Amino acid sequence: MNERIEVVFGDITKLEVDAIVNAANSKLLGGGGVDGAIHRAAGPGLLEECRSLGGCPTGEARITKGYRLAAKWVIHTVGPIWRGGAYCEDELLAKAYRNSLKLAEENRIKTIAFPAISTGAYGFPVERASLIAAAEISGFLEDNGSIEKVLLVCFSERAERCYLRALEESR
Ligand code: ADP
Repeated sequence: MNERIEVVFGDITKLEVDAIVNAANSKLLGGGGVDGAIHRAAGPGLLEECRSLGGCPTGEARITKGYRLAAKWVIHTVGPIWRGGAYCEDELLAKAYRNSLKLAEENRIKTIAFPAISTGAYGFPVERASLIAAAEISGFLEDNGSIEKVLLVCFSERAERCYLRALEESR
């Protein structure tokens, strides 16, 4: 199953996949981190389409076109802000992965790349987040035959180490 999941290092905006996932905020109007990078690379059409969506609650996901990106689609999901772990952060992060993958399935997306959702400005501990990401994605792929490849995109060596270990553990 896990041959369909791969950890890669680098800038998600450069990837030639059907869809990239954006770690957005609930307003869906752009921001810093990976969100800002995606909006810069996609161009103003993305923000315009996002404006028409009226936001997205934490744990849910929305899909738009990719505009100037190589990716045809952007799936915007909102991860939880880390508040110590007692505020359903784990479940909300799991939901963000699950709902993004559901949208991918519904839109017949075969290749999809995720950033390390919530582990930047939102402060979710990266080791804990990587275990949740690996478990959710492997679980989803067990029941799904249409998604061919899921890339876990890491932007730091620390994240890369955590994601590689988490993937080993979910095997
Ligand atoms: P959040 O608010 O969900 O924490 P951030 O964008 O602050 O979102 O960070 C999420 C993760 O995305 C972090 O691990 C950060 O290092 C990573 N990241 C930032 N820019 C990029 C990029 N261009 N490509 C891939 N990952 C990125």
